[in-house]
Amino acid sequence: MPQRIFCRECGEVLYEGELLKSPQDVIKKFEGRCPKCGKDLSFDTEAVKVKPCP
Ligand SMILES: [Zn+2]
Repeated sequence: MPQRIFCRECGEVLYEGELLKSPQDVIKKFEGRCPKCGKDLSFDTEAVKVKPCP
């Protein structure tokens, strides 16, 4: 099932796809920051949400 990982702060979709990725991998890819709102994602384990795509 495709999954979607998004910033809890602004709702920006950080990853969407068929491959299951860990939030940590996605956070690392963005160097620990949301590209949209600049939230420090690496600091907060609840910073991103993972949901299956509808
Ligand atoms: Zn954000």
